[in-house]
Formats: sequence, C-alpha cells, structure tokens
Amino acid sequence: MDDTELYAKLLGIAAPWQVTRVTVNVPAERIDVWVEEAPGIQFPCPTCRTLAAVYDHTPAQVWRHLDTCQCQTYVHARLPRTTCPLDGVKQVPAPWAEARSQYTRLFESRVLATCRECNVSGVMRLLATSWDATWGALTRAVARGLARKPRRVPTRLGIDEKAIRKGHHYETVVVDLDTGTVEAVLDDRTQASLEAYYRQFTEEELATIEAIAMDMWEPYILATHACVPGAATKIVFDKYHAVRAVTAAVDEVRRHEHRVLQAQKDDRLTGTKYLWLWNAERVPEWRRAEFDALKAAELKTSRAWAIKEALRGFWDYVYPKCAAKYFSAWYFWATHSRLEPMIKAAKTLKRHLANLLTYVRHGITNATSEGVNSKIQTVKLMACGYRNREHYKTAILFHCGGLDMDPRPAAG
Ligand SMILES: [Zn+2]
Repeated sequence: MDDTELYAKLLGIAAPWQVTRVTVNVPAERIDVWVEEAPGIQFPCPTCRTLAAVYDHTPAQVWRHLDTCQCQTYVHARLPRTTCPLDGVKQVPAPWAEARSQYTRLFESRVLATCRECNVSGVMRLLATSWDATWGALTRAVARGLARKPRRVPTRLGIDEKAIRKGHHYETVVVDLDTGTVEAVLDDRTQASLEAYYRQFTEEELATIEAIAMDMWEPYILATHACVPGAATKIVFDKYHAVRAVTAAVDEVRRHEHRVLQAQKDDRLTGTKYLWLWNAERVPEWRRAEFDALKAAELKTSRAWAIKEALRGFWDYVYPKCAAKYFSAWYFWATHSRLEPMIKAAKTLKRHLANLLTYVRHGITNATSEGVNSKIQTVKLMACGYRNREHYKTAILFHCGGLDMDPRPAAG
C-alpha cells in the first residue's frame, strides 16, 4: 500500500474522491494530503440531486484532520462546482467536513469531545487549535443540535435568572425540569423575551404545560399569564427564592441593629452575619454555642431569624388548606413583629400566596433538576474564558442542552 492509498483509507476517502498526493515534513511534524475528484465524474446537484457535470472548482481549501502520530495533518482540496440545468452553479460539499468548518468531521468530533472535558483554553493547549476556530466548532455543534432537536414543549418548566457574575448582566435560563436540560437561554429577564420563547409554540402546545417554577419576578409572571393557558394554577414560585427574600430581610434587620448596638459599644453582632443567613442545620458545630447564646438574647435579629426559620415549614405541607393555615399564622407573627423589613417581606409573600400554595400540588422548585444547576455553575466558573455573551450562551447549551451535536453527514 502506498501513502496515497493509506491516507485514502485513514480519511475514509472513497470514489469518486481520491488521494492524489501526500507530503511528510518530519522537522515541521506536519503531513499534507491532497484530495481530488476522479476526472470526468458527475455529481448529484446539491439541490435537486440530478447528476450534473463539474463546471469549475473553488479556490484551494484546507482542513485540519486528526494528527498522524505526532504530526499535525491537513487535507487540501478544491471543491468542484456543478452546473445544473435547473439550479445553476452549485458547490459540491466535501464529504469529510461540515460546510464552513476548517476541520474534518473526525477532528471536529475530537474538539467537541475535548470541550466536554475542559474549557476552551484547555482545548487550545491540548489540540493546538485557535480561539476562534474552537468557538466556531462549539457554535456549529450547538446550531446542529438545535436544528435536530425535536419540537416539544416541556411538561414542567423552570425559569431562572442567571448572571455570569454577581451584579452582571442577567440571562433567563429555561429548563425542562423532567429531563434536566436547558431548553433556551434568553438575552435578559424581560417579559418580551420570555413571551418570545413561549410564542414559538402553539396555544394547544402551551396548554400541555403542567407547571412552571419561577422567581417572584413580575416580567416572568406577566409573560406566563399572557401566553400559557391556565397559568394561574401552573405557576409555582420558587421556594428558595421566597426564603431568600425573607433572609435578605433578616440581614437588613441585623445590619440596622448592629449599627445601633455599636453606637452603645456593644459588639455582640460583629462577625455574625452568616450565622443568621444560613439555614439552622448549616451552622457549623464550632459556632453552635455562640449562636445559641445570641438566639437566646433579646435581639431584634434573633426574632427576625426565628420568623425566617419558621417560614421554611410552609413547604412541608401536603394539603393546601393546612399550608394556607400555617401561612396565615406565620404572616400574623411576621407582620406583628414591629420589624419593618420582615413586615415588607411577609407582605410580598402574601401578595404571591396563591402561587406559593401551588407548590403543594406540583412540588417543583428551580432546584428540582440539581444536575443542570451544578453544570451551569461549572460553566459559570469557566466564565473567565467567555469574552462575549454569545459564547456564554453557547457554552450553557453545549454542556446542558442535552443536544445531539455530533458532526455527521446529512442523511441523503
Ligand atoms: Zn439541480
């Protein structure tokens, strides 16, 4: 077997294509392979599939292939253009590569497999690829996956806001809570963008949604009421978001009280911020005694904390009536606490009570699919590598979209 035959086999090059030349440059650790179509051959017109004669060729193109031993390997070809009586001049696609890719399919698969294991900078170091070409492969992969994705509205949705870093621009992440995959990443957290997501489905399809977990965020609520039939009984306000709202009120009470105490040279609340923010069971063993003493003291902060901890019991109920009764007792306590931030937070929850109670029936939160949240967290940790938001969105869909992204020739 000579080297052209060997490379035809290695590259999977079959008639009418043939390898015409191979050069090996050992000092440069580089192999170049030239591929041409057999002379006089006709190709099916890429549009109508009728056999058509070759009219001319594109300028020479080059594709990176898997390395041969330690040598980077490149495939060169000028792609024929056919002239079809119906469709005119059309370029014949290269069977070894995706359109607009500078990689062969096999090399592109390797890039994607490596991307699953490390971030883009890591891929660049391991495979000696460029930043733009690596992102190009990821972007094409996600586009392929989205094009192949069957059209289906999820039964149980999670709508969650995410920022790359705290305080930075927000994206809305729509998650299928049953499959644990990201359905869409929307550019902001406005009513218009969530409505645009819903509107890709018909009203009948939207009616099949059973439950939607979300933050108590007005634009999400309005968009869902505007698009999803029966939204009133389907929206479930996220339990963790509700507890966070009350926890923020506890923190406000603590900050205020800390300032007042310090003015009286009382440092009891110094360094205690997280004791009050953590759930009771998360307080570390070595701080338990200190925390117990603080809780027993006559402090506004400890009263606010007790109200916050009591709220968590709301989500343990299995009957809506019992949950509602528990809430009204809690609400009475919170609103009679004379702690302004707690009263405000309680009123917010009361306003949203109907869709806090839907939790009893649907039992969903945005943490329902833990897997996807921790994966998005990993994507965020790699965010130093995202020079733009499109890359961030691409990375979320690549890692969490559950997409079929393999580069393979289109059927037919
Ligand atoms: Zn044609």
